[in-house]
Amino acid sequence: MSQNTATPNRTYLTGLACQRVQALTPYLSARRIGGKGHIFLNANESPRSEEYQLDCSRLNRYPECQPPEVIDRYAAYAGVNPDQVLVSRGSDEAIELLIRTFCEPGQEEILFCPPTYGMYSISAETCGVGMRTLPPLPDFQPNVPAILDELQRGKPIKVLFFCSPNNPTGTVLDREKLLAILAATAGKSIVVVDEAYIEFCPQFSMVDLIKQYPNLVITRTLSKGFALAGLRCGFTLANSEVISLLLKVIAPYPIPEPVAQIAAQALNGAGLDTMRQRVTWLNRLKTELKAELLRQPCVKEVFEEHGNFLLARFTSGSRLFQAMVDQGIILRDFGNKPMLEDCVRITIGDEAEMAEVVAVLKSL
Ligand code: PMP
Repeated sequence: MSQNTATPNRTYLTGLACQRVQALTPYLSARRIGGKGHIFLNANESPRSEEYQLDCSRLNRYPECQPPEVIDRYAAYAGVNPDQVLVSRGSDEAIELLIRTFCEPGQEEILFCPPTYGMYSISAETCGVGMRTLPPLPDFQPNVPAILDELQRGKPIKVLFFCSPNNPTGTVLDREKLLAILAATAGKSIVVVDEAYIEFCPQFSMVDLIKQYPNLVITRTLSKGFALAGLRCGFTLANSEVISLLLKVIAPYPIPEPVAQIAAQALNGAGLDTMRQRVTWLNRLKTELKAELLRQPCVKEVFEEHGNFLLARFTSGSRLFQAMVDQGIILRDFGNKPMLEDCVRITIGDEAEMAEVVAVLKSL
């Protein structure tokens, strides 16, 4: 274990931390879980990186809070106005900014439908904001009547999070369901659609609805389709008034100058072409892996395939996971999450990585 994740001996210092931090279990990212292997398919990262140019002549100066080239290019790519875009340190920062901006700690809450991305709950806990969870329907779509009912009860629910495509189920949010939720929350709550994986299925984006629904917020990232998880660069797309509020809360210099330079290159014409080629490539490998999985007797079901990963239910998820570990392949086990017994998520890697995964599957 590396030095910064080891637990030091407990002294009085722990007692000095505020109660909610003492009680907090941090997000177990793939990087924190670690694991010994030579193939890492546990963090929905891209299998390959690209080269970028850096100009270090301005590193003595503080960077722009919102680098205009990055904002303009992302706005053009997403089909929104520049004043409807915020850039942040990954979309994880955007999730926290939304909670800090819209929820009064202890008095107002967030809502989401697990199984879904883990940072909605961690960010709420860190901010002292309560959370309400509702199980989705068996097809992993939100249970709209239950959500509308929940909105009438208890403390005000100020932010609702939906992830589309959902991590880890790969489900895309049904547009009609989102419209029903937007209508019911108008004037009362912010509805966030986390589109971290949208590059893999752009036809399902809800970004066009921003024009009609001022309470709709979309979060995006360069970590997935753009293959820049190490850059830490994410975006929020929303009504310009929402963006102005988030700008009141964000740090003064959230985007390091090298990050801005690389993001601008990733978002120019050539960068977008490269991203689209990568997505076509990974989507093809995903279709091939899905077909292979469905041929294996140890596979009971493969979930929707809209991200750069596949979630499958096995006859024994833990056995499959361990068999892969034994061959140096690290996947992500979701067997202890609601509705996901025996489910393991496999990030789509390159041809050689997928061939090794298939070889282990066949050997079982
Ligand atoms: N949303 C979802 C659904 C994710 O899976 C992830 C990363 N795994 C994020 C947001 C965070 O992305 P970023 O790297 O931009 O912080």
